[in-house]
Formats: sequence, C-alpha cells, structure tokens
Amino acid sequence: MAKLLEGRIIAEQIKSLLKERIKSSKLKLDSIQVGDNPASDLYIKAQKKLALDLGIEYELHNLPKETSHDKLIVFINQLNLNKAVNGIIVQMPLPLHIDYKDISRYILPEKDVEGMHPVNLGKIFFGKPKILPCTPAAVIELLNSLGGFLQGKEIVIIGHSEIVGKPLSLLLMDKLATVCVCHIGTSKAGKLEEHVRRADILVTSVGKANLIKGEWVKEKAIVIDVGINKVGDKIVGDVEFEEAAKRASWITPVPGGVGPLTVIMLMRNLVEAAGL
Ligand code: NAD
Repeated sequence: MAKLLEGRIIAEQIKSLLKERIKSSKLKLDSIQVGDNPASDLYIKAQKKLALDLGIEYELHNLPKETSHDKLIVFINQLNLNKAVNGIIVQMPLPLHIDYKDISRYILPEKDVEGMHPVNLGKIFFGKPKILPCTPAAVIELLNSLGGFLQGKEIVIIGHSEIVGKPLSLLLMDKLATVCVCHIGTSKAGKLEEHVRRADILVTSVGKANLIKGEWVKEKAIVIDVGINKVGDKIVGDVEFEEAAKRASWITPVPGGVGPLTVIMLMRNLVEAAGL
C-alpha cells in the first residue's frame, strides 16, 4: 500500500524557512484579476491567506471584465515601475478578448513570481533556471523530499501545458531522467496505458477524473497527481486513487498533495525575486 506524499506537510516546512528569510523585510505582492471568476477567486483566497501568514502585503486589483489588452499592459507597466511592488501575478483565466499567452511577457522578469516570462522559461531551456513556474517547482519539491535521485528513471508526464507539463519535462530532463510527455494525442492513438505502465514516476496534469486507471500504475511507482476535478461535492485528481494506491510506493492525495505546495512556491519566488 502506498504512503501518502503530502505536499501540505512539506509546504509547512518551507513556510517556516520563508518566515526566517523574510523576518521584518517589507514585501508586496500585487495581483490582477480581470472580471469575476470563481476558479481564480479560490486561488486568490489561498494566496491572500498565505501572504498574511508570512507578513507579506497582498494587494488585489480588480479590473472590469471589459478591460482591453492594451489597458491591461499599461496597468502592468505601472506595477513594473513601482519600486514598492516585488511581485506581480495576473490571475487566469482572462476574458477571451485578452491574449493570455501574450500577457506574461509584459511583467518584468524579476517581478514575474509565476515564472512564466519567456526570459524565465528560457533559463529553464538552457539549464540555468532562476524563477521556476510554481507547479513544476512543487513537483520537484515532492520528488526532492523522496531523495530526488532521478537519473535514468522513467518519468511519464501526462499533460503538455505551458504551466505544468512543458517546463516540468525540461527540468526533469536536466536531472538526467528519461522523460516521456503524453497528451490528448497519446490517448487518441490508444497508447496512454502502455506509457503509464512503464513509469517509475508518473505525473498527471490533465483535469479529467479517473482518466488514469489504478491498474495501469507500475508496482512501486511514485504517483504525483496535479489534476483538480470536481466530482459531486468532492475534489479528486486524474488518477483512480484507491486502485493506484494499492500498487504505488508513494502517491499524492488530492486535495493536500501538489496544491498547497504550488502556492508556497509562489511566495518562495517572491522572496527570491526580492533577493532575500
Ligand atoms: P491544460 O488544461 O492546459 O491541458 C490539459 C492537458 O491534458 C493537455 O496537455 C491535453 O493534451 C491533455 N489531455 C486532455 N485530455 C487528455 C486525455 N484524454 N488523455 C491524455 N491527455 C489529455 O493543463 P493544465 O493547465 O496543466 O491543468 C491540468 C489540470 O491540473 C487541471 O485539473 C488543473 O486544474 C490542474 N492544475 C493544478 C495545479 C495545482 O497546483 N494542483 C496547478 C495547475 C493545474
């Protein structure tokens, strides 16, 4: 039976270390939300609470949903120029008339606490990461907590998003793991199961409850489930938890696995961006 890989516990340890680093320094994190969105409301609430715990000032700017792409860029620029602001987040999703993939490049790389500016992503490409995207950083922390020896390990990532699968694959490749990235095309080709069965370490970031059958999981594999899916009034991941837990050596719970670490990574990026 698998042991639980609880990000919540590691997040608490990192939080204590961050408190030490912050001490009495004044840090400010500015967050921009365009229009209303229940999904980002939840994430904002978690960010606000954690910032408060760490003594970080958190300012939320609610812009109207009709804010144009150009107006948003002007607003970001004002925060870029404001010396009191250490980090900037633009909450996703953005209204459809704003090209969300284009927005992260307007945040100064040194204030880009989500690690999504092309300069920060480019540093990952060249094997010299500085500010990491938060969820891949959370996955790396989970693996580090288990010893972090990844050389030659077969790692299968399901999902090739810009915020999770793509940067994570590069980070793991640089640790000399053998990385395979699967996605919708893999499923359509009927090959998902065969890849999952090979994984010493399986990371899923899809957003489909029970997509990964527990019986596909390799004996003693490490399973990191990034997916967040609402089923009735429960939150579950992408992996059939009960069955997978019978075979894996370690498995993240959902909730309580990757999520709490993702938010703390944002704060660690802020502390690092401020040079503390
Ligand atoms: P996304 O939503 O941008 O893309 C989904 C990915 O899944 C794509 O690569 C797509 O090709 C793949 N996919 C879709 N259907 C598939 C199928 N049938 N078989 C195989 N692959 C399939 O991805 P994302 O932004 O990484 O989000 C994925 C999930 O992770 C969502 O549930 C999201 O809420 C969650 N998430 C959680 C955290 C966290 O901190 N816990 C952070 C980011 C995302």
